[in-house]
Amino acid sequence: MPTPPVHETLGRELGNLLERGRDRQLRLAVTGLSQAGKTAFLTSLVNQLRHAGVEARLDLLPAARDGRLLGAKRLNQPDLGVPRFPYDPAMQALGESPPRWPAPTRGISELRLELRYRPARSGWFRAPTSHLTLDLFDYPGEWLLDLPLLGHDYYSWCQTRPYAQGAKRQEIFAEWLTAAERLDPAADANEAVLAELAEAYAKGLRRAKQLGFSHLQPGRFLLPGELDGAPVLQFFPLPNLSQTQAELDALPDTSVYATLVARFRYYQKQVVQPFYREHFRRFDRQIVLVDVLGALNAGPERFEDLSLALGELMQSFSYGSRNLLNRLFAPRIDRLAIAATKADHVTPDQHDNVVALLNALLKEPLKELRFANVPVKALSLASIRATQSREVSQGKERLPALRGTTLEGEDVLVYPGDVPATLPDNAFWQRQGFDFPGFRPMPAASGALPHIRMDAAIDWLIGDKLT
Ligand code: GDP
Repeated sequence: MPTPPVHETLGRELGNLLERGRDRQLRLAVTGLSQAGKTAFLTSLVNQLRHAGVEARLDLLPAARDGRLLGAKRLNQPDLGVPRFPYDPAMQALGESPPRWPAPTRGISELRLELRYRPARSGWFRAPTSHLTLDLFDYPGEWLLDLPLLGHDYYSWCQTRPYAQGAKRQEIFAEWLTAAERLDPAADANEAVLAELAEAYAKGLRRAKQLGFSHLQPGRFLLPGELDGAPVLQFFPLPNLSQTQAELDALPDTSVYATLVARFRYYQKQVVQPFYREHFRRFDRQIVLVDVLGALNAGPERFEDLSLALGELMQSFSYGSRNLLNRLFAPRIDRLAIAATKADHVTPDQHDNVVALLNALLKEPLKELRFANVPVKALSLASIRATQSREVSQGKERLPALRGTTLEGEDVLVYPGDVPATLPDNAFWQRQGFDFPGFRPMPAASGALPHIRMDAAIDWLIGDKLT
């Protein structure tokens, strides 16, 4: 075969170099509904990468196992308008005596790391060490629950009656509903009345959240951040729309209905869309954290609600051609992980069931993602392991158990119960076969935080960039 001319070879090498240059930057986002474990995950992720060369146990991450991952240092983040992820305060809380869980983040935050690694094979132009700039983002999954709102106008949103799903929710919103039913959509809007009703509606959402419900809209009402108290959050669905949409649309701008329509539109355009346009669209990879075990602990109504919420949340990742998001923003996430968190709440023999249950819970969204050819992996992990696995003897049998310290400070040895591998049926709930306490983090040994399968998650999310 004739040798290609030198300029061709050089051209190709230069192309490769540029390609690699592009590969050296990755924007990785972490999300999940509040309490799913985002803050703990990001803290552990940064901690493991910073200790990768030495103390961290990352056997499932080949670059670390082979000693090629040399560590990570923090760099100044490029987006000056986004708060910095509070890594130092989180580590400080974990290092206290007794250790505390880090305070959860409540909006979007960011942290930039530079990873240093030795490539697996050395090529012609390749330097002995390479680097990967990793931009990490953390944002509330509640914000993704707002995507379906973009598919509604105010009138059709009111028809979904989001306050009426299930007996418990009806109870929570009963007082608000009585007051809202008294409002005449055609009457002149009274600012103070609207603000009061909007606050009562938001209070209902917060109460539902506290009680373990997940399917709650609009998402910013729960985590308003800098929008707290702004009129853009002062709307709610009107319960008694007896006129046709055309009749309602003809009402004057000063009417209750027209005022709420304007606020709903503003919320769509100035709150929901900018998040997708300015942040979501730019993420390369994403991990969605799900507290499956917490929902199992909370009972059937909350479990069912989590399933509904995840169905809505996952719409942000389904890239079918008719998908709303695709039409609006063309996101570019090319790899997704879905992780059941807090796996240290169950004994290791149950971990496969946790993943099976997560798969069952997300069956439809996962099917769509696979069909759209988005690489996705489901796994279970503990970002910061708070228990130790033990065995106890019962007669001749050796049974798995967990040793840990409860949040109240009591040392316990427990068997939390079996996790069902499929969606739990009535028989499961009647047996009430699952119960675990919250655990306090273990006192910090020097170096890396203890974890379960953080290395598997890291490998899936960035491992291919470290070869
Ligand atoms: P966020 O609201 O999604 O940021 O959730 P956090 O990261 O604040 O986690 C919520 C709570 O879940 C923490 O305060 C812990 O009590 C618990 N938690 C989170 N991660 C773990 C974990 O890996 N193991 C255990 N045992 N508990 C965890």
